[in-house]
Amino acid sequence: MTSNTVFYGTLIHSLSLAELEVINNGVLIINDKGIIIHLERNVPDLNAFLLKHDFGITKIHRLNPHQFLAPGFVDTHAHAPQYVFSGLGMDLPLLDWLNTYTFPAESSFKSVEYAEKAYTKVVSRFLRNGTTTCSWFATIHLNACQSLTDIIERLGQRAFIGKVNMDQNSPDYYVETTEGSLRDTRLFIDYVNSKKSSLLTPVITPRFAISCTSELMLGLGKLAKEYDVPVQSHLCENHDEIEFTCSLFPDSANYTAIYDDHNLLTDKSYMAHCVHMKDDEVDMLAAKSVGVSHCANSNFSIHSGVCDVRRFLKKGIKVGLGTDVAGGFSPSVLDSIRSSFMASKTMKIMHRDGMTGGSKEYEPLVPSELFYLATLGGAKVLGLEDTIGNFAVGKSLDALWVDLAEGGPVDIFENDTNTQMFEKFLFLGNDQSLLHVFVQGRRVAGTATSI
Ligand SMILES: [Zn+2]
Repeated sequence: MTSNTVFYGTLIHSLSLAELEVINNGVLIINDKGIIIHLERNVPDLNAFLLKHDFGITKIHRLNPHQFLAPGFVDTHAHAPQYVFSGLGMDLPLLDWLNTYTFPAESSFKSVEYAEKAYTKVVSRFLRNGTTTCSWFATIHLNACQSLTDIIERLGQRAFIGKVNMDQNSPDYYVETTEGSLRDTRLFIDYVNSKKSSLLTPVITPRFAISCTSELMLGLGKLAKEYDVPVQSHLCENHDEIEFTCSLFPDSANYTAIYDDHNLLTDKSYMAHCVHMKDDEVDMLAAKSVGVSHCANSNFSIHSGVCDVRRFLKKGIKVGLGTDVAGGFSPSVLDSIRSSFMASKTMKIMHRDGMTGGSKEYEPLVPSELFYLATLGGAKVLGLEDTIGNFAVGKSLDALWVDLAEGGPVDIFENDTNTQMFEKFLFLGNDQSLLHVFVQGRRVAGTATSI
């Protein structure tokens, strides 16, 4: 006995960086496992359509004219423990910010009880904001990392989860031995894998090269290969960080090469920031198929710099968006879209005014491209493009039921087209605009009390 569900109304998703598809009167059918089994465009009469085709439908969801379905957001870079001080400590650059605010805050997660409370809040908050998939940095503490995994599983988010590794240049209250770091990483991967959940993926997470010895990074490279798991870290975020990093590893040609020399750059790797990259470093990312997590809010907030995303896209490098909570102060990917828009406009202004020394022409990102980065682009960074990112048949229904009803943050006028409604949501919407949030067909958040 089949038990399928149909959604009928406006559907909006990206087909590629250049192509946003707005489907009017769309029919989207999912099976009881939350997988999309049919997508039909321009169906004027749903009842007539369902009479004609037997899809085994047991539930019908009709969207109102001021509502649409969009793929869920993918946050490719966020620090779960740092949510505790989100919006605070925005006065310092990266290395001082880490020592003053971040390391003391993260060290509190040695208490599992403390971790459970904080992690429940942050994962719930991210889901409420429509982040159906997130790549998390946790802390160095195995027990708290396991607790984060349990909470994510219970709340229903799709997630990549990383136990952070740090065995040098770290405060004595927040550091591991090389041996302990590798042992706990293995135990953590085994723990996540033991859940046998298609939604959960363990990810090797050296904090950054500064806080990892060569021996540790080589060991992590081996683990990534043995378990065939992804690798995430930070790369070329700010000038002082780059200078210090390169002084620690004089045998490597540049910062990017440090990770490569330790076998940490694979087609499953993705790096946050990449703000200040030499041409040969960008070429290395392209050659190794390494993805980039663009964290514009963070880059402004802790004044790291302005990242030229167009440069990566032109080389065919995978790019997604990251909130980088709490270097970035917002837990919402809608904010990442807006910050990336501002960063792109800043690049345009810098080029125009001759501040870059290069061409005066610069092509800033347009809304449809920003939306792509927030959904399908992020899915590609995480190697999930066959699973999520848009409404292609065979993918999972990770989706947002957007509702721009009166009284919410967005005002709609009678002449607004579906595309205009969508753009208003990108720039003005918030968690109040999300009636339902789905991960693999399961409702996990939203302003409605039920569906
Ligand atoms: Zn980060």
